[in-house]
Amino acid sequence: MEIAGDFRRGCELVADLALVALGKKRIAIEQSTLRLVVTDKKHFGASLLEATGSAAHLEQLKIYAVARGFALKPDGLYRGRRLIASATEEEIYGALDLQFIEPELREGRDEIERAARRQLPTLVRDEDLHGILHSHTTASDGTETLEAMAEATRKRGFDYFGVADHSQSAHYAGGLTLQEIAEQHREADRLNKRYGGKFRVLKGIEADILADGSLDYPDHILKQFDFVVASVHSRFKLPKKEQTDRIIEAIANPLTTIIGHMTGRQLLRRPGYELDVDKVLRACAKYGVAVEINAHPWRLDLDWRWHQKALDYGCIFSINPDAHSIRELDHMHWGVEMARKGGVPRDRVLNAMGLTALLAHLSKCKSARNGGNRHPPAKSPRAA
Ligand SMILES: [Zn+2]
Ligand SMILES: [Zn+2]
Repeated sequence: MEIAGDFRRGCELVADLALVALGKKRIAIEQSTLRLVVTDKKHFGASLLEATGSAAHLEQLKIYAVARGFALKPDGLYRGRRLIASATEEEIYGALDLQFIEPELREGRDEIERAARRQLPTLVRDEDLHGILHSHTTASDGTETLEAMAEATRKRGFDYFGVADHSQSAHYAGGLTLQEIAEQHREADRLNKRYGGKFRVLKGIEADILADGSLDYPDHILKQFDFVVASVHSRFKLPKKEQTDRIIEAIANPLTTIIGHMTGRQLLRRPGYELDVDKVLRACAKYGVAVEINAHPWRLDLDWRWHQKALDYGCIFSINPDAHSIRELDHMHWGVEMARKGGVPRDRVLNAMGLTALLAHLSKCKSARNGGNRHPPAKSPRAA
């Protein structure tokens, strides 16, 4: 049995489940939230393709088939009365002289055109990720100690755990005082000594972006971290231009590594704040700041519909669980699904870098910071 429908396409919201099962008879059972298609081996691919959708993709695929002298029907691809392909999806796309289109990309955007030109990206996979870069511990609002989170991450086969607890202004979330930062760094050093280079705890922080776009600690403190996630946790109601300027100010800060949950949306709960996402993405590309794909199921922010634009501008992404418990480390998978829907390849994902490459990348950022030439001059009032 295979899961099809919206779930197989990695949609961020799934209202009903479609299943395709292999059996001797061919039947379809439909309820309000469940559709089960039973099909034989010969027609399995055609049934799976049809049950996976999306409606827009299938519609375009049918038109594409007709233009080339085929007919795509629910039980297979035909030329005249002759069944050409039906057992696997690969055979059907292949017979149409298309690259295989991954389910996540089947949204009726431009995937068929790109498949015809053999220009579909090789999408990032779960196993491509080498580490975790944004998670919380008991030092702020997480439920586990740094040691427990690091150990759970290591046991999941990752090479590094980047802690990023809340910063001092986030009182509600137990933001870290300067003393707590020093304690956490001592603990990280102790753990790293024990791991002896086989696994690494990276010292990060989720620094609040303050009202004026500055980050929540003075520079000499921020410089002590391996990486900085800059996030908005307050003043969601600012007018669009002010909100945009404030976030771009944070991105232009040479100490920012990643911009966290860019729009602040929570699915089914609240829309994101008013923001010129296009402009913010251009700033991320310009200043070399990674765009977070927050993998928490409530967030899945930045929305996958923006990913192609970000790729076109030259942005890199970081797929982060924003885990507050061990269980939430496994949310990484949903972030990968979003990246795949957005067409993101492995080489554009920060935490798809192995430990050595990531450390080299972070130290390059750090030395550029000290030299002051990582970022071109910003057009912000501060820089002027
Ligand atoms: Zn946050
Ligand atoms: Zn967080």
